[in-house]
Amino acid sequence: MTIARVALDVPVACLFDYAAPSLGRECIGKRVLVPFGKRQIVGMVMEIANQPSISPQRIKPVSFVFQDIPAIPAKTLALFRFCSDYYHHPLGQVVMNALPSRLRRNKPITQNANRWFDLTETGRRVDLSTIPAINVLRRKLLERLKTEGALEIHEARKIAASAQKSLNEFTELGWVQEIAPPAISESRAIPAPELNAEQEQVLRPIRMGEFACWLLFGVTGSGKTEIYMSLISQALVKGKQALFLVPEINLSPQLEALLKMRFPQCRVVCLHSGLNEGARLENWLLAQSGQAQIILGTRLAVFTPIPNLGVIIVDEEHDASFKQQEGLRYSARDVAVYSAKQANVPVILGSATPSLESYQHALSGRYNMAILSRRAPENAALPPLRCIDIRRAKLNEGLSETLIAALKERLQRREQSLIFINRRGYAPVLMCCACAWISGCSRCSSRLVLHLREKQLRCHHCGHEECVPSACPNCGNVDLIPLGQGTQRVESALSDLFPSARILRIDRDTTRRKAMWPGMLKSIQEQQVDILVGTQILSKGHDFPNLSLVGILNADSSLYSTDFRASERLFAQLMQVAGRAGRADIPGEVLIQTQFSDHPLFEALRRNDYSAFAETLLAERRHAGLPPFMHQALLRAEATRSSTVMNFLADAAKVASRVDHEVTVYDPVPAHMPRLAGRERGQLLVQGASRKKLQAFLNDWYPKLTEKAGKKVRWALDVDPLDF
Ligand code: ADP
Ligand code: ZN
Ligand code: ZN
Repeated sequence: MTIARVALDVPVACLFDYAAPSLGRECIGKRVLVPFGKRQIVGMVMEIANQPSISPQRIKPVSFVFQDIPAIPAKTLALFRFCSDYYHHPLGQVVMNALPSRLRRNKPITQNANRWFDLTETGRRVDLSTIPAINVLRRKLLERLKTEGALEIHEARKIAASAQKSLNEFTELGWVQEIAPPAISESRAIPAPELNAEQEQVLRPIRMGEFACWLLFGVTGSGKTEIYMSLISQALVKGKQALFLVPEINLSPQLEALLKMRFPQCRVVCLHSGLNEGARLENWLLAQSGQAQIILGTRLAVFTPIPNLGVIIVDEEHDASFKQQEGLRYSARDVAVYSAKQANVPVILGSATPSLESYQHALSGRYNMAILSRRAPENAALPPLRCIDIRRAKLNEGLSETLIAALKERLQRREQSLIFINRRGYAPVLMCCACAWISGCSRCSSRLVLHLREKQLRCHHCGHEECVPSACPNCGNVDLIPLGQGTQRVESALSDLFPSARILRIDRDTTRRKAMWPGMLKSIQEQQVDILVGTQILSKGHDFPNLSLVGILNADSSLYSTDFRASERLFAQLMQVAGRAGRADIPGEVLIQTQFSDHPLFEALRRNDYSAFAETLLAERRHAGLPPFMHQALLRAEATRSSTVMNFLADAAKVASRVDHEVTVYDPVPAHMPRLAGRERGQLLVQGASRKKLQAFLNDWYPKLTEKAGKKVRWALDVDPLDF
């Protein structure tokens, strides 16, 4: 009896057996339709076996085998298994969620991507006027083919949704034929700048065709992008594909453009969650079939089957958005390293401020370190950085006189400035002067942020919105004051101070509609903006050549946070923002307003010394027994009542103490944000001195958790958690 073991998108950690008399091993990696309860659902064949693992009477047959696309390669299936094992997430959910949504539907897909049509000799001789005028569409199509030559099916569909039908008719008439896709672009490649000595040195030891993980530690503006381009080109020359992972694509439209310009003969596809289903599927298929040579994507792209993988690049490797925070809580950076090893190709993790995990790996020799210590363009220097002590300074709406004067100077010189404040909205909270009531979220343990422009109070955690009250809900006093600052407030303070300056606010509120961002970027680059006010969106890898001043407000709250990663993050963020200043010929300057100007973090920033700071932090972490020297997993739980959560966690801790392993199990505690969207949350931390020990423990513990958790608790295991 032939049995197909099928992965299904259900929260159960096993494969499901179905009878498949006519199937063989070639079906591994194919999608199938199978009966599940009363429904038919789509799954993926992971194994073919001779023996069922349940009683043969209970086995139902596979209903249908999809033949619409080639099977998922064994390497990709192995990657899914690794993720399921390592992150302790049901295999079926890992597999099915890694697929583009169209492939999870009960219907086969019709694959039309990259089909090209051109006129035949007969077609070319057809006189347009012989086609009846009411056939508008057919005329349009023919006209388009006559004037501009071959066209791709998507373009045809844009002319009319039913274009395929007309093209079929034309084909039958012998007017049109399907042709091989033409070369991507006729335009010539934009030449790369000549690499400097440091860049050459970094590239020399990186070899194609063998696994090695490289940490490319290069200061902002040191030309890491050129290193990536050069490695991609080496892979392409060998006929290989390149995977390029970035934290966010919508924020860096220039990168896609650059890749297309540098490699005009190649197909570059993007993969990220902002694409519509059709585009996502199409790009995924182009990668899987090997037709796309360069795959540029966000974290989810790490699961794309790439048959001919030659190199993986992870840019801004320190960025927290490589870690997925729900479902399969994977780190795309770590998965990328695994898949590079699997494919035996080099992987490059680039950053000006590497994560301490990667940095420690590089120090210990597990990863190779490559360093770019200087800015690449000849005259560009790293900007000097100064702290403004706001305990002594007089502030005008949160802005010191020094900063205001510096802004004025830039306006006079027609240079750009950037004010960084990592809080959107007008003020983080609204308060009553009479009774000290503050605006809190009714569903979360958080405060409602005042958005003055929209006249709303908004919760940035659960999305709850309400109108700004005209009087205090507690005592009726009408005197409510906004406390603290957000981007909107800074924007309005600046426009009061500099009425003629062109100010642009950039935060999640103003870039929400994704089409907005490229336009904003363009207006910055075309010098239509004098002062930028924005959140961390602005810290991510943009090149603003005319920007010469960066002002940083309100960074202090992270200096003494309870989260042990807070200072690592703050340092990275400030260094990245500071790196926006003075990238070309104009010298830059960075001003930081703080109450703690002697703090070692600012001292290290002033010296622009990431290594020294990282090494201090690492020494602290080693001493305190924290990652990267320890390995953690966090059991997260939530329910409507906090007692349900805490009881489950206490049970889990009890079970853990009976599992005999060398790990430390901490006490259950409420989550950092104990209430979110109306649910109570708690967590339990376990920590082991090695990955192996921790994994051995989790393997024993995980199945027991499944038994303990009742229906009332929602829980998840977060391996290598970043947020607490
Ligand atoms: P990073 O990604 O390290 O912050 P970029 O790759 O964006 O830096 O490079 C910064 C600037 O330096 C870009 O404008 C880039 O064109 C330029 N650049 C890179 N390499 C060279 C080089 N070898 N010679 C001259 N300019 C270079
Ligand atoms: Zn009040
Ligand atoms: Zn809320």
